[in-house]
Amino acid sequence: MIRLAGRPVADRVLAEVRAGVERLKAARGVSPGLAVVLVGDDSASQVYVSHKKRAADAVGITTQDFLYPAGLSRAELLDLVRRLNGDPAIHGILIQLPLPKGLDEDEAIAAMAPAKDVDGLHPESLGRLLAGAPATVPCTPAGCLEILDHYGARLEGAEAVVVGRSRLVGKPLAQLLLARHATVTMCHTRTRDLAFHTRRADILCVAAGRPRMITGDMVKPGAWVIDVGVNRLDNGRLAGDVDFDTVAAHAAAVTPVPGGVGPMTVAMLMRNTLFAAERQLGAR
Ligand code: NAP
Repeated sequence: MIRLAGRPVADRVLAEVRAGVERLKAARGVSPGLAVVLVGDDSASQVYVSHKKRAADAVGITTQDFLYPAGLSRAELLDLVRRLNGDPAIHGILIQLPLPKGLDEDEAIAAMAPAKDVDGLHPESLGRLLAGAPATVPCTPAGCLEILDHYGARLEGAEAVVVGRSRLVGKPLAQLLLARHATVTMCHTRTRDLAFHTRRADILCVAAGRPRMITGDMVKPGAWVIDVGVNRLDNGRLAGDVDFDTVAAHAAAVTPVPGGVGPMTVAMLMRNTLFAAERQLGAR
């Protein structure tokens, strides 16, 4: 069984981004600029933002923080996004989700200039992905594909099953697999017999947010399993959506949690930010 560790893949991507940032600086005299917008005091969001800022520092991307209490009004948020849209030093805008109650995530994302949407969640980015046009791809699904490619999974003609249909993960991941000529099935809470589908999967990607819901008996022998889930258990430990030990007994390859998809999300955000800066500076 191959343990699909994300760290070495993320390190390779980050090294490529660092080299790209250096090239851009040499050619245009500018470092990519990432605006980090964090509203409220959600502790998980604070941790994610600190990981992203640390990675940006390490690759030479300049970050600017925009930290606000949960009481930020809708008008203030939209005004901030518009200012960032017009700021030439900012090439990417990261609005850390979830936003506090009372703020409309869809509205805030749609207010971003599509060129600066480094999370790939703007309707234009998602539409381009669906159309098969060059697109900024959401970071977590892009990271899943990067892991599969790095370790040599065969996607063409494979039966791929995606559990979860969120805009953030499941839907874009299914599109990416389809674009690589997999036969894709999407499962969700109304799926009648989940195990029937998961047992047919050569490539099984799980993004449901249900700790250890996929057990060994639900997996086809020889399957490749990507576990996107990050769940905090009552004992404080992290668990994926996949029961690693029982699934590892059947599968050909499985991502661990932590240390699988997680590091990839941050690395792909850095790559998206570099590419956005290159496009805005006419270097791509
Ligand atoms: P989400 O928006 O809550 O979506 C969960 C999806 O899973 C929904 O489509 C839901 O179906 C489906 N689902 C839930 N329970 C199910 C079940 N028992 N059987 C079949 N389908 C089920 O979550 P998300 O944002 O996509 O995130 C999913 C997981 O990935 C979470 O654990 C999250 O923390 C993690 N995540 C990790 C990273 C990372 O960097 N590693 C990044 C993003 C998310 P319905 O549509 O029918 O409700």
